[in-house]
Amino acid sequence: MTRFKTLDDLPANLTGQVALVRVDLNLPMQEGRASDVSRVEAVRPTILELSERGAKVLLLAHFGRPKGKRHSTLSTSLVQGDLERVLQREVMFIPEVSGPVVAQAIGILRPGDIGLLDNVRFWPGEEANDPAFAAAMAEHGDFYVNDAFSAAHRAHASTEGLAHLLPAYAGRAMERELAALEQALGSPQPPVVAVVGGAKVSTKLAVLQNLVGKVQHLVIGGGMANTFLAARGVNVGASLCEHEMIETANAILNTAEQAGCTVHLPYDVQVAREFAARPESLRICNVHELGADEMILDIGPQAAEALGDVLKTCRTLVWNGPMGAFELEPFDAGTVALARMAAALTQDGSLISVAGGGDTVAALAHAGVADAFTYVSTAGGAFLEWMEGRRLPGVAALEA
Ligand code: ADP
Ligand code: MG
Repeated sequence: MTRFKTLDDLPANLTGQVALVRVDLNLPMQEGRASDVSRVEAVRPTILELSERGAKVLLLAHFGRPKGKRHSTLSTSLVQGDLERVLQREVMFIPEVSGPVVAQAIGILRPGDIGLLDNVRFWPGEEANDPAFAAAMAEHGDFYVNDAFSAAHRAHASTEGLAHLLPAYAGRAMERELAALEQALGSPQPPVVAVVGGAKVSTKLAVLQNLVGKVQHLVIGGGMANTFLAARGVNVGASLCEHEMIETANAILNTAEQAGCTVHLPYDVQVAREFAARPESLRICNVHELGADEMILDIGPQAAEALGDVLKTCRTLVWNGPMGAFELEPFDAGTVALARMAAALTQDGSLISVAGGGDTVAALAHAGVADAFTYVSTAGGAFLEWMEGRRLPGVAALEA
């Protein structure tokens, strides 16, 4: 495994040092308040540990998409209250990211105090990864900590540039995420099963192409399974299906065969004529029995059971994408059943389970099992890029 420096590589006593800590504070907001503070909870251990060890902790984060200009509605000061509440600590807001205002604030902060810099994307140098901009920020810090895996797929000044200018360390959340990902795909215990679902093949093409060469079992569910079924000659009726991707789907199936990867597609499905919760036209049928006006909206109970048997033979599971239109009952059934089986096997100690993706996290929470997985990544884009087998610039820059 690639080595990263962590907070363990820093001296125990950091009194007098200034830590520049990149965090993810891009909280979902509703009426001026964060509707979910789990991102703050994720970075709390790093912030409090550095503080307890005596460092002055300066938090760097982006908030929304200000495109290189100041916007009062996108200031990180909007999440200062949430930060204070979750940390149970006072946090000083500093309306800049470099320059005399920051220097003055550092002079006021005592060892262990926490400061929150303004939205780093107010400055065009951030997204341009401008070395001069990174250097202006680096001037204020003795070392840099990156605890924002979710932003690591961007080569920006605060996620990448700074790591080359200051001694750089992975924070505790980053460290956990990297360890989980390493366990799932870096050097996993075989056999490995990848579950890929969601709406479309086109958004997950690179994921599928990367996985077929790495895992022993590939489960394809959700809307994208329809394209694969169509590639195998199944008439998918009115289902969501990317007919222009059929050749690509066939190429993936061929690659899988050559690589010794078994692809699992559903053979029974939940179908309906309308896209609605509990539709009257709901029925369960074999994939070969679909009517021309019917849509596949979930895998069926037999498919779910068969997939459960696949999970039982595997040691490692990596999962992105729901098995059906889980937002509508009963089309959550396949995803919920599979999630609960994975959770039970994880709790029994026979399976290492790592999942990620915006809708996937929501689906696992809906199934009530998010905490029973080995690791659930809330980093949407970064998690997908990692599943595509790409090197994330923010992670690469931390490599020791
Ligand atoms: P993630 O955010 O976890 O990466 P995606 O965004 O790729 O997942 O996919 C989630 C979406 O796929 C959900 O909105 C879900 O309703 C949709 N979906 C899953 N199965 C089907 C299906 N059979 N037909 C239509 N939409 C589906
Ligand atoms: Mg999604």
